[in-house]
Amino acid sequence: MVMKRSRVLAVLVGGVFCVAVMSLYRMLELMQGAELQRGGDTPAGQVDEDLSHLQEKIDRLERLLSDNNRLVATLRDSLVNRKASWETGRRGANVSSDTLSGCRLAEEMKDGTDGVQLLHVYDLLTFDNPDGGAWKQGFEIRYQGNEWDEMPLELFLVPHSHNDPGWLKTFDSYYQDQTKHILNNMLIKLSEDHRRKMIWAEISYFSKWWNDIDEQKREMVKRLVGAGQLELVTGGWVMPDEANSHYFALLDQLMEGHQWLQKHLGVRPSSAWAVDPFGHSPSMTYLLKGAGLNNMVIQRVHYAVKKHFARQQTLEFLWRQSWDSSPRSDITCHMMPFYSYDVPHTCGPNPAVCCQFDFHRLPGGRVFCPWRIPPQPITEQNVRERALLLLDQYRQKSRLFRSPVLLVPLGDDFRFTESSEWDAQFRNYQKLFDYFEQHPELHIKARFGTLSDYFEALHRRLNAAGTTLPTLRGDFFTYADRDDHYWSGFFTSRPFYKRLDRALESTLRATEILFSLTLADMRRFRGDSHLVADFPGREHFRRLTEARRNLALFQHHDAVTGTARDPVVVDYGTRLFHSILNLRQVLQSSAQWLLLLDKSQYHHDQSKPFLQMDDVMSAQDALPQKTPLVLSDAPRSLIIFNPTEQLRTSVISVVIDSPDARVVEAETGRPMTAQISAVWAEPSRASADSFQLSFVAELPPLSLAVYHVTKAPAGSAPRVRYTFHRHGNPPTVRSEHFQVSSPQGPEADAPLSLSNKHIQIWSSQETGLLQKLRLQSGLVRQVQVQFLWYGTRSGVNRDKSGAYLFLPGEEGAQLYSSSEPPLVRVSRGPVFSDITSCFRHFTHTLRLLHLDGHAGKSLEISNMVDIRSEVNRELAMRLVSDVANGNRFYSDLNGFQMQQRRTLEKLPLQANFYPMTSASFLQDSSSRLSLLSAQSQAVASLRPGELEVVLDRRLQQDDNRGLGQGVTDNKMTASLYHLLLEDRRGGAQEVGGASVEHLSLLAHLTSLSLCHPPITMVAPSDSQLPKLRPFRPLRSSLPCDVHLLNLRTLEDAQEAESPSQEVALLLHRKGFDCSSAPEPMPQCTWSTHEEVNLDDLFSPLQFRSVCRSGLTLLREHDKPESARQQPPRITRLRPMEISAYRVEID
Ligand SMILES: [Zn+2]
Repeated sequence: MVMKRSRVLAVLVGGVFCVAVMSLYRMLELMQGAELQRGGDTPAGQVDEDLSHLQEKIDRLERLLSDNNRLVATLRDSLVNRKASWETGRRGANVSSDTLSGCRLAEEMKDGTDGVQLLHVYDLLTFDNPDGGAWKQGFEIRYQGNEWDEMPLELFLVPHSHNDPGWLKTFDSYYQDQTKHILNNMLIKLSEDHRRKMIWAEISYFSKWWNDIDEQKREMVKRLVGAGQLELVTGGWVMPDEANSHYFALLDQLMEGHQWLQKHLGVRPSSAWAVDPFGHSPSMTYLLKGAGLNNMVIQRVHYAVKKHFARQQTLEFLWRQSWDSSPRSDITCHMMPFYSYDVPHTCGPNPAVCCQFDFHRLPGGRVFCPWRIPPQPITEQNVRERALLLLDQYRQKSRLFRSPVLLVPLGDDFRFTESSEWDAQFRNYQKLFDYFEQHPELHIKARFGTLSDYFEALHRRLNAAGTTLPTLRGDFFTYADRDDHYWSGFFTSRPFYKRLDRALESTLRATEILFSLTLADMRRFRGDSHLVADFPGREHFRRLTEARRNLALFQHHDAVTGTARDPVVVDYGTRLFHSILNLRQVLQSSAQWLLLLDKSQYHHDQSKPFLQMDDVMSAQDALPQKTPLVLSDAPRSLIIFNPTEQLRTSVISVVIDSPDARVVEAETGRPMTAQISAVWAEPSRASADSFQLSFVAELPPLSLAVYHVTKAPAGSAPRVRYTFHRHGNPPTVRSEHFQVSSPQGPEADAPLSLSNKHIQIWSSQETGLLQKLRLQSGLVRQVQVQFLWYGTRSGVNRDKSGAYLFLPGEEGAQLYSSSEPPLVRVSRGPVFSDITSCFRHFTHTLRLLHLDGHAGKSLEISNMVDIRSEVNRELAMRLVSDVANGNRFYSDLNGFQMQQRRTLEKLPLQANFYPMTSASFLQDSSSRLSLLSAQSQAVASLRPGELEVVLDRRLQQDDNRGLGQGVTDNKMTASLYHLLLEDRRGGAQEVGGASVEHLSLLAHLTSLSLCHPPITMVAPSDSQLPKLRPFRPLRSSLPCDVHLLNLRTLEDAQEAESPSQEVALLLHRKGFDCSSAPEPMPQCTWSTHEEVNLDDLFSPLQFRSVCRSGLTLLREHDKPESARQQPPRITRLRPMEISAYRVEID
């Protein structure tokens, strides 16, 4: 535990006490360790007793510590002036002595340094890729033959079929052509022999098949599951991509699958199976562990890492979260050692041999062995020779693991479709197993097994031998399967859909929350458990369920990755698009109910919605377009939903038909600060009949605010002033309503500059691109924006970039240049000012908001990219700064946590690109530069001070990973970022270790605003509007570091496809950085302790019941001690952790 002296002094007495207790706690931990080491000779019973004694002591200390925390909290709370409210807007202003306390909790958690750290492994490896012989990417494995004399080899052959929910065919086509036959045959073939087993992962397919089969077959399924012959592994809707997926969607698809399994089969998965995602993230393991799984299998890991782990016998490990020093997040992970999950690469190191034991490839079939030695059916004549040949592979593979239990998968993509394939595999293997059985001198016990059969045996053997697995921290990006073929292309492929994915995600979250609040409000209004008769609760719940499942489907490792065939991409896009439209209906009618002052006026008419969105989405591949509002003297109501749990000041923009308008807060009549800007039909031609009205809105957490817009006399709202620049060729500007100038002479050569209260920026007058940033504190940093092209390798027989792979040409990135200088348009207004650069392939805008709060502290960057005219090119945006970060930078994993990255010269350029789901940053001792993004893409820091993201890629060829096409379906694609420069007071940057870092509090808040924008709805102009009242469900913001991840209505247990009264409440307490504290403080408080009173947090909302549960809300994970907990509901929110509750809102 490293604490700076100055900080210790600053902490209250309680803090000191905490440190003392924590140290004592650590000492006890160390003693425990020492005890264990010394305990070599002592009888096990004695050790157990000592341990339980120690455990008791620790428990007692833990209680003490927790009591103390509560005491400190109470003291603190009584000190904090709680009178402040929204009106005064000063809440939390006097907790500055506590500024860093919240972040310390996260600091204290991350002091573990034991075990394997993947960053260190990368430093160690040479990545020289020598030929390993039969096991090409490995080494020769030797054994004596007597290794298993004492402890026989215990082998589990695990039959599986990898079913992609969309790739070369759509989800539905695969289902019709393959998947349903696989599952139908499974019922027959597993029932024939109780020794046969099978695992299944994708609940999207399983549930579809379930809907097709009759009751009798469903009973058969339940029997097979009950008998342990069929195991549902992971239980997610899909086997998700772990690079581009956001943790909201990762958890949501897991929840959808688990809830389905609980309802229909009454089972909960205990082992996870992820053999095809292109690299692996610890965020996924966190969610799996939180959902009650204890074991997992992964496959696609860099071949050099696999080889290293195989040598060290660390292919099985306890995967621990980087930020966690306790074993709480540990999950037992098995990494497959060889190249692939198919049969040639799973029985042992030699694929030419293993292929002979894939009996689907028997001569005469459709598939064969590329190693040219075909399998033979097992007969009495050849069984001995065949069994010994296979046993040799098993034994070699076993030498790579610490226990004599061996996992051997048996399957491939869409396997076991035909009945004959089942017979070929199961009958031939059974003969081999029978032979082993009859020959005990071979010391092998082999059988068909499920994943859990394997892990149970593994844990039994490890316990018996007193062996523990090593712990491991880190992630498995960036994946390479051979040579320098790094899979960093898919971090950006099909960026249009990666962005659409996040649009659906934020719409879904917003709708879930508003729908849950609406149901609760309606039940409260009626005084019974029923909904208002007119409200289409069931239809809406069906829309929600469909949207959850479409978002879930898109997390599949060929969907959000951008690695499916063109028609499949359109199928996914259509699903996302329809889901957004459907969710909008739910949002609108929920908002209608919540806003009505007189609820008796509620009336639902699908054909004539009460509210509409302020934009229109016309197709799955089109960007949303704002609908111009027709204004008159009568007020037009704008409804703004703030889907975040924070009070926020936002700029709301709508398009109107008049250059003069006025906005007032409906309730008070208070006029809002506003500006009118031009809508640009072309870069230098303003639309004559539509205009953009932007105003500053104060939005309480989760509220629906109402504003009135009216047509106003000329000049009521200030109009933006424009200046146009084009080097050497001043443009002709057509704009009748706005003041426009084009600077001439020396003025034209001065750098462009914009500023607000917090920052000043300078841009090149030639290109409009950013050059320099200055903070209010005086900190100045060079931050230059550049655009670059990457090409691909030249030459006929060279491998080239494709959907998966990034294989840039040897020349590296080329600076973007255009034959004519870009048009640069600068706008200045009271709400925001911006600089827009119009290049041929992209339009780039830098915007500063003139806001006092934290929203004014970052620079908004947006791009509109169109590279449809290009061939084999990728466009990247690079920030070149003077931040002295060395070769270290940080990128996020799934928006859940930050991971340190090291740019290594020994690796090719494409290996130094990493996925960025929502954030990355560079830092040195005095500042941190964070780039927060609203979409997933590839990120790299190739040289000190640099940070670059790949915006779009257009590639004409297939890259030989089975897709069979390039990526050429590019579209006009938008990307959005916030750039944040912050002072650091944390002293010197740690240069040594694999330091764990978190986003700053300000970065968290900025990211929250970016990923969850306010939703604007419009009331129709004509109708006799009933009276509306703003909806404000919460008295105050949640603590700044607590994120309301979801408030998701669960399905009724009795009535199918109907909403129940139970809601999944998911809270994520973020860890944040200690070295930068925002000044002034954001207007929210955060707790210095882990315990939180849920009733206070959500006041005035009341909970009828609160029950803590696992992350997927399975009933058997409900924590017994919290069942039907009476108020006050004190709960523990640990930094970095997600907590799940099943609640009923009163
Ligand atoms: Zn797959």
